[in-house]
Amino acid sequence: MPVYKAPVEDVMFLLNDVFPIERHNNLPGFADATPDTVEAILAEGAKLCEEVFAPLNLSGDQEGCTRNPDGSVTTPKDFRQAYEAYAAGGWMGLAAPEEYGGQGLPSVLNTIMQEFVSSANLALGMYPGLTQGAIAALLVHGTEEQKKTYLPKMIEGAWTGTMNLTEPHCGTDLGLLKTKAVPNGDGSYAISGTKIFISAGEHDMAENIVHLVLARIEGAPQGTKGISLFVVPKFLVNGDGSLGDRNGVSCGSLEHKMGIHGNATCVMNYDGAKGWLVGEANRGLNAMFVMMNEARLAVGVQGLSQSEVAYQNAVAYAKDRLQGRALTGPKFPDKPADPIIVHPDVRRTLLSIKAFNEAARALIVWTGLNSDIAHRSSDDAQRQTAEDYMGLMTPVVKGVLTDLGFDNAVKAQQMFGGHGYVEEWGMSQFVRDARITQIYEGANGIQAMDLVGRKLGKDGGRAITTFFNEVGAFCQENAGDESLKAYIAPLQQGLGHLQQATMWFLQNAMAKPDNAGAGATDYMHLFGLVVMGYMWAKMAKAAQARKAQGDGVADRMDAKLLTGRFYMERLMPETGTRLARISTGADTTMALPMEAF
Ligand SMILES: Cc1cc2nc3c(=O)[nH]c(=O)nc-3n(C[C@H](O)[C@H](O)[C@H](O)COP(=O)(O)OP(=O)(O)OC[C@H]3O[C@@H](n4cnc5c(N)ncnc54)[C@H](O)[C@@H]3O)c2cc1C
Repeated sequence: MPVYKAPVEDVMFLLNDVFPIERHNNLPGFADATPDTVEAILAEGAKLCEEVFAPLNLSGDQEGCTRNPDGSVTTPKDFRQAYEAYAAGGWMGLAAPEEYGGQGLPSVLNTIMQEFVSSANLALGMYPGLTQGAIAALLVHGTEEQKKTYLPKMIEGAWTGTMNLTEPHCGTDLGLLKTKAVPNGDGSYAISGTKIFISAGEHDMAENIVHLVLARIEGAPQGTKGISLFVVPKFLVNGDGSLGDRNGVSCGSLEHKMGIHGNATCVMNYDGAKGWLVGEANRGLNAMFVMMNEARLAVGVQGLSQSEVAYQNAVAYAKDRLQGRALTGPKFPDKPADPIIVHPDVRRTLLSIKAFNEAARALIVWTGLNSDIAHRSSDDAQRQTAEDYMGLMTPVVKGVLTDLGFDNAVKAQQMFGGHGYVEEWGMSQFVRDARITQIYEGANGIQAMDLVGRKLGKDGGRAITTFFNEVGAFCQENAGDESLKAYIAPLQQGLGHLQQATMWFLQNAMAKPDNAGAGATDYMHLFGLVVMGYMWAKMAKAAQARKAQGDGVADRMDAKLLTGRFYMERLMPETGTRLARISTGADTTMALPMEAF
């Protein structure tokens, strides 16, 4: 059975030392989040994930979901009880507004909990995860009545949520969407069409399912400008809040897929289902973007989560598996062979994953705090910077953390040799589960295009300029600190590469958009390397300071500092390769005639 221990200690280092949460006491909800309270909350969340969610990961993968002849869907054994424990613990509403039954705590805590949940059981965690995205969209764009009708039940966990965008002929290009909405004359619409790949579209965990559905109102323009968002409950809700008739929406079939078997991926048939407009007509994509942005960040967290759990298992195995002797002579002469963790190549692999995990976690905490500032600060300038960062970082978090999350799951699997390839050890599941994170919520190539095509130039390049200034200033402030030299110098070099690549796009992509398209994925990864390098430099500084306090954490801080050095020496140099690739432009990529492929 695979192991999992939630990294609470690492998170507390981030929240106490690197990005002190106490500094944000002026934001609503933060005054209650004292370090002790936060630690207690996360310890409780860790317990739920380790003891209730994780033990169902392997069995959920093996059993999968079943569609019954009446269209209902049965989730794997004990998933429902685990979900109920999550709901009863108030986790769904951790950061949701108190007026709808939430606890109003910082949403960064929810982001952290998402990592624990997804590491423990990605498929199970998606049911509440999607609900939280739907809650966010309704909070921003729902009418008062919609909020009153749906939010308390969703926050309580009694009802779950879904997002319905994809259709058989329309995935990335939502402008092709065909599902139609016809006014019923009473303020509601009749929704008809087929949606595919709908996660958690049907299941047996909750009394009701609240579908957020993109559809085109009869007569609306073609393309993305004619799309509207609707709320379509599985059971209609009576005036007194009780459940009424079954609505005209049902699960036609379940997809058989590579991973996340415990999550029901449904074909959803809408046959004149009653729905109500959310937000303005023909502005549905705008409204859905609230959910999509939440989901993109959550999917980035999923990427990290699979890297972390796969790493933990690979480390346990590498300490236990005896093969060969250390190159410098036996380290455990009393044993028939040394554990494989003595071998430099094994250590290189494990450290590559560890160095990513810790930086990626810092990145999601930093981004989570920015999300709180963007939503809760009353200071306009502070809010604007945080919003700019959210826009800039969303494709990076989604694309980079999931690409590397998958790569790392494969690397961790490699540590098991042939035993990683067979199902028994659970490593194959981490690889299979991690794979979807690169695809859904906008395939990663699309994230890269979003970064280069939309986010870089937005508001005259304000966000990227602020980022360059922040990292540049950090490097300058710490340039004289000998103890940080190993971190600052490579970061400065990486930042230079990122600035050159950005400049290259400015000079070469306007006139020739293929240059942007051909370099986008390299740019996204170059960005990821630099922002994670920045996270490492900040962590190194905090670790030095913490070590100087001499409060018994020296070993832990030394491990942090060494892992950061590894990142700077072994991963950061890739910025040069990425820049070189970007600067070659699109000519060769686009020259090959289609028939020659
Ligand atoms: C398990 C699972 C769960 C899912 N859950 C949901 C859900 O809950 N709700 C929902 O609505 N959808 C869901 N999806 C759908 C998912 O979001 C889409 O599969 C995804 O957005 C890609 O769309 P597509 O599959 O149609 O691929 P396509 O759009 O056909 O793209 C195919 C490839 O072409 C590339 N490509 C396409 N256009 C461009 C372009 N302009 N520039 C560069 N490259 C391009 C893409 O990057 C991709 O690699 C789920 C999918 C799966 C498999």
